[in-house]
Amino acid sequence: MMSEEMRVRFAPSPTGPFHIGGARSALFNYLAARHAGGKLIVRIEDTDQKRSTRESEENIKEALRWLGITWDEGIDVGGPNGPYRQMERLACYQQYTDKLLAEGKAYYCFCTPEELEAERQAQMDKGETPVYGGHCRNLPKETVERYLQEGRPYVIRIVTPPDELLEFDDIVRGHVSFDANKVGDFVIVKSDGVPVYNYCVVLDDALMGITHVIRAEEHLSNTPRQLVLYKALGFAAPTFAHVSLILGKDKKKMSKRHGATSVQQYRDLGYLPEALVNFLALLGWTPETDQEIFSKEELIHSFSLGRVAKNPAVFDIEKLNWINFHYMKALTPEALLDVCLPHLQQAGFVSEEIDDGQRQWLMTMVDALREHLQYGAQIVDAAKIFFSDDFTPENEETAAVLNEETAAAVLQMFADEFAALDEVTPDAVQPLFKKIQKGLKVKGKSVYMPIRVALTGVMHGPDLNVIAALMGREKVLERIGKSGLLQ
Ligand code: GLU
Repeated sequence: MMSEEMRVRFAPSPTGPFHIGGARSALFNYLAARHAGGKLIVRIEDTDQKRSTRESEENIKEALRWLGITWDEGIDVGGPNGPYRQMERLACYQQYTDKLLAEGKAYYCFCTPEELEAERQAQMDKGETPVYGGHCRNLPKETVERYLQEGRPYVIRIVTPPDELLEFDDIVRGHVSFDANKVGDFVIVKSDGVPVYNYCVVLDDALMGITHVIRAEEHLSNTPRQLVLYKALGFAAPTFAHVSLILGKDKKKMSKRHGATSVQQYRDLGYLPEALVNFLALLGWTPETDQEIFSKEELIHSFSLGRVAKNPAVFDIEKLNWINFHYMKALTPEALLDVCLPHLQQAGFVSEEIDDGQRQWLMTMVDALREHLQYGAQIVDAAKIFFSDDFTPENEETAAVLNEETAAAVLQMFADEFAALDEVTPDAVQPLFKKIQKGLKVKGKSVYMPIRVALTGVMHGPDLNVIAALMGREKVLERIGKSGLLQ
């Protein structure tokens, strides 16, 4: 028998910024599909009309493309099972609702919100789980007809057969079972005629031939309702894999308090898509070895749902920074500048238009600073020594460097020698330090430190000859002059 092709889907609700958790779900689906040579479908769950926006849908698509997550069927790319937006599939849902109603598997419910609330309250007072009691389940046909003619508002509910166990084997969570009596007859079409998520998702997954539903753990509690619907509709349920939540380091659910939570924010901070993909893959998936850096091809090769952990994943920003640093290190100076340039421009260090000479200079500069960059936005702090005129010593310890006995002589000799250089390149500058050391009979540190502090105001940074060459003759002499130590 030919084995069934794996078909998975990512089905975001376009209701706001694209959360890191959503990106991880998309990635796991993508990796599972590519690993198995299957298909990934991307569709939009926009039945929450108040909160869904096209802008958010655009953001999600843009972020997926930026991450390199491609899909085979769905919004934008099309396919044989469209449309791929739920609000464009209402006619299709309607057909199935009519069928369920005709078969007595669903029914009109005319209970008012007040009646439902009273029932809920009474159940809660008795310490019971609130479930719809089934008041409208067996209304006589004529009554239903009459109410409909009167134009009474209604919802449509599915019949949940009582006393059953709703169970399934989840790839991540193992065997899961729910008591159908705690589910009750739930609403599948709201009073405004729009079907609810649980209903649409089942029809979409079934009609699109989805074999594996890989999604966040927060949907685990929806699964029993979905199982009731698969049965009622006569479709086989797919295999489920509910991926654990992402927690902050304090073990609380990842939220804005923990820092950036959307893909967009990480992109705007100058993280690389390859690094984010690598990091997100490790948020829940455990590789077989202790390898931590994975190219996308390696992820596709190694990924397996069977190695997705049941316990929550902890979002460790230091780990992301470490991974990103690794990828940044491998960038060519041109590519590194592409990552850094927007930040330099936003900081007002560099104008929007740059000529070839400036580009060349900027490339050398970012290259010299790469050891100090975990992500793009950090260029602003690292490069400010070249752009800001505030290079006064950052603290007392730094200022003390310029009070050293030999500092004035060191700066004087450096200024003289520097002014006399034929050309200002890192290689031309480098021998000056040894020359000063010998000439003044002082230690290396007593040469480097005063010059570094006079030029940059700080005691750390890239190689001094590189800094000086990048600053150029004029700026170097001006800054040394401003130390007030020259005769
Ligand atoms: N639309 C849901 C969400 O964005 C996904 C539901 C599902 O994957 O079944 O959380």
